[in-house]
Amino acid sequence: MKRTMIMKKRLIILGAPGVGKGTQASRLGADYGWAHISTGDMLRDAVREETQLGCRAKTYMEKGELVPDELMIGLVGDRFKNRDCQKGFILDGFPRTVHQAEKLDDLLGELNMDLDDVVNIDVSSDEIVRRLSQRLVCAECGHVVTTADHLQEGNECPSCKGRLNRRKDDEPDTVRRRLEVYEKETRSLIRYYQEKSILRVVDGFGSMDEVYATILFSLGLTPVRP
Ligand code: AMP
Repeated sequence: MKRTMIMKKRLIILGAPGVGKGTQASRLGADYGWAHISTGDMLRDAVREETQLGCRAKTYMEKGELVPDELMIGLVGDRFKNRDCQKGFILDGFPRTVHQAEKLDDLLGELNMDLDDVVNIDVSSDEIVRRLSQRLVCAECGHVVTTADHLQEGNECPSCKGRLNRRKDDEPDTVRRRLEVYEKETRSLIRYYQEKSILRVVDGFGSMDEVYATILFSLGLTPVRP
């Protein structure tokens, strides 16, 4: 793939569960060479591998609750030690509370790094519930698809032929709980970054390509593909 002007950025992508943060963050990472740091994916890996962290996180995740801050801060702090973060990174799913955001400032301060931008993808709750009820994820490669593409649980992943599953926390009751948690905890983050004047709000209603184009525009980035 041809990469035109490569620019180092340190970003956060915010938005309620199901707004498409993961998909957009992974595309940004692939296009611009930045590390995509998804705390949800890291925790799911830890649960699957039955590590100490995974065993502690599992019960919170299954209920749609937030994993305690001290576990999350340790996890992200360790991740920043990885060399790939030096080329820039996109945090997806972290921070989720103002306390995590303050700790993130401390972590970055210790590493002499600044945040460049925080992108908030804004989508109505009704649309989120609709999208999550249609979401399927490949158990092998994590590829995300939707039942609107005529796929169902148990089908083959179009990317790696693994098995498509519904995420346990995408069941309707857990989705409602995750949205409540989001409203209560994460909304205040938007104010936190607004006050730092690094918040960009992007309308998340539209196709993945349309939203991606809006994100690039809001960050002043030139698309790397036509
Ligand atoms: P996600 O894939 O980002 O929706 O995360 C899935 C679940 O992992 C969440 O519902 C939480 O239980 C947990 N989680 C992920 N990131 C965080 C975080 N920054 N703080 C606390 N819990 C988190």
